[in-house]
Amino acid sequence: MTYGYVGKAARIDLGERSVSIEEPSESVYKNYIGGRGFGAFYLFREVPPKSDPLGPDNELIFATSVITGIPIPGMSRFSVVSKSPLTGGYGEAEAGGFFGSELKAAGFDALIIKGASETPVYIWIQDGKIELRDASALWGKTTKEAQSEIRKDLDDPLVRVALIGPAGENLVRYACIINELRNANGRSGLGAVMGSKRLKAVAVRGHRKAEVKDPEKVMAISKWFAAHWKEFPGAVTRSTYGTADGLMALEISGLLPTRNFQGGSFSKAEDLSGETMKDTILIGNDGCYACPVRCKRKVAAHEPYETDPLYGGPEYEAIAAFGSLCEIGNLSAISKANELCNAYSLDVISTGNVIAFAMECYSKGILAQKDTDGLELSFGNVDAMLQLVDMIACRRGIGNLLADGVKRAAQKIGKGSSRFALHVKGQELPMHEPRGKAGVGLGYAVSPSGADHLQNMHDGAFIKPSKSVEPLAITEGVDPDSLDADKVRLFVYGQLWWGLLDCVDACKFIFIPHPAGVLGTNHLVELVNASTGWETSLWSLMKASERALNLTRCFNVREGFTSADDSLPERLFEELSFGAKKGSKLDREKFHAALRLYYDMIGWDPDTGIPKAAKLYELGIGWATQEIATA
Ligand code: SF4
Repeated sequence: MTYGYVGKAARIDLGERSVSIEEPSESVYKNYIGGRGFGAFYLFREVPPKSDPLGPDNELIFATSVITGIPIPGMSRFSVVSKSPLTGGYGEAEAGGFFGSELKAAGFDALIIKGASETPVYIWIQDGKIELRDASALWGKTTKEAQSEIRKDLDDPLVRVALIGPAGENLVRYACIINELRNANGRSGLGAVMGSKRLKAVAVRGHRKAEVKDPEKVMAISKWFAAHWKEFPGAVTRSTYGTADGLMALEISGLLPTRNFQGGSFSKAEDLSGETMKDTILIGNDGCYACPVRCKRKVAAHEPYETDPLYGGPEYEAIAAFGSLCEIGNLSAISKANELCNAYSLDVISTGNVIAFAMECYSKGILAQKDTDGLELSFGNVDAMLQLVDMIACRRGIGNLLADGVKRAAQKIGKGSSRFALHVKGQELPMHEPRGKAGVGLGYAVSPSGADHLQNMHDGAFIKPSKSVEPLAITEGVDPDSLDADKVRLFVYGQLWWGLLDCVDACKFIFIPHPAGVLGTNHLVELVNASTGWETSLWSLMKASERALNLTRCFNVREGFTSADDSLPERLFEELSFGAKKGSKLDREKFHAALRLYYDMIGWDPDTGIPKAAKLYELGIGWATQEIATA
């Protein structure tokens, strides 16, 4: 009898049309916990080196954790891991909603999917049974159409569906996976991997009750959350205004990415704020399994664009990517772009970036109307922005070029356009400006999946020492602009904590340091022990995170990545052109010194960035040394 986890993973070969069930050992659960940990473990061991990310050898791993689905806010999430068609390296993205908890209720901790079907299929999982079903009639349909057809086909409106739209089918390299039409495994192009396998959807439904070892303890933490979460200002403002609650603070401090990261201030920022959304197009809150915060938005815009509330509403990343980054100050248009991305299964961050990149190329004369199918791609052109989303999803006209991401597009366009391609390892930058949060820049550089704001600490939360991070041995405040040794140390600990949240698949909004989050590090340890009956500790869980991080690094080393890939776009070493932080830039020497120090602190060779054998043995994954030695 297992507590907390099911004890089963399903292997599905779409080429062979075979399904088998395996029971990972207890030590796999204890060493890898779930989510990122499971994904990195299986991906590194099973996907042959140099496999085509869009080929049948690549695996697509859906993973929950040992605490997914317990009735605690923030425990709704699941990870999807694969080799990324965008970066060519380790790819990963998490999503909330209800799919993760439902997958466990349906009887599985993880799905390991490989091969490629000759014809479109979807996977149907119900109470321990797995079936492959024909999806030919669903191919080409939007996520809303396909989800509706699947629920009709299965005669159950409560089936949870993770699926792709036309962008995934068309192998757009930053296509995402959507569940409930509004939650995305956004980054890394995982929707294109699904498309390459001709897998339209994974549908799950289950009635297995989560068995935990100490239900009273879990209930006590749940009750504590219900009684206290409104005392945490970050959770309250997020519930009231969504993730755009901090947009105006970024604007005021000069850190709102604008005009393709040329500056940090947008004259129409107020029109995009969470407050404006609440006063105009917001029609309700939405949320995830067992979470009363309900920070997600439901919007209905009518003028000048009609939007469908079933697709939710834009979060901060979408608002800034289609808004300030493209100099568009119209929430209705941004909501429409967000809706199109959810309907087509496009990552909003990368999509906004490629459009801003194209706009900058146009403004500099590198692209002209003859290259853009007649579109006038000026910053601020709402119609052009919306048309491009459509053209990218369908790979039509210039959309075909942009569907491969800014790195590849710039390589094809040439004429110095790579200067305007803001990416790390090929993945476009999220809406957080490193020229005022230097640790975020270091995080973008070393994230295994390329620039990702959810894989590391954000400097602003650590200006003053906070009681909530004392268990992580962080007792001093830091300067957001600094990249000194104290910042690197904070970054290392923060990165491992953030990484642990992806191993347990916990919502970061619930578990980031106060006052933004609610539950603390010690709560997480208590939850793991109460759920599983283990006697783990914060130290042991942080080691699991470090183990997973090292496997992601080993995966990238084996794929040929070097320390040169831990770099940042040139623009970040140039001065911000406008806004309150005008003139700020990252110092190149300090960045490189910090990178070297980071390697040293984390146990990687300071020259090459390759994990040292001693570190891998210390983490109990010495077997990985051989794999990377022959890389
Ligand atoms: S805080 Fe928001 S994203 Fe996190 S679990 Fe709750 S509703 Fe979902």
